[in-house]
Amino acid sequence: MEKVKVIKEKCIGCGMCVGQNPGYFSFGDDGLSTVIKEDVNPDDKASILESIEMCPTEAILIEEEK
Ligand code: SF4
Repeated sequence: MEKVKVIKEKCIGCGMCVGQNPGYFSFGDDGLSTVIKEDVNPDDKASILESIEMCPTEAILIEEEK
């Protein structure tokens, strides 16, 4: 199963991912992006890959987890 992650140390809270994929990302109390749904639905993968490309600090990644 592929999981989406945000590296908090890299996120600058620009909101791009939250705006594009609100089903996966939300702002935490710290004002930074927090993953609210880790498991990547195959139908959503292209859109998440777009968020990964658009993130200015490369804070988002998808990992394969067993
Ligand atoms: S696009 Fe990147 S920097 Fe912007 S809020 Fe999302 S994870 Fe943070």
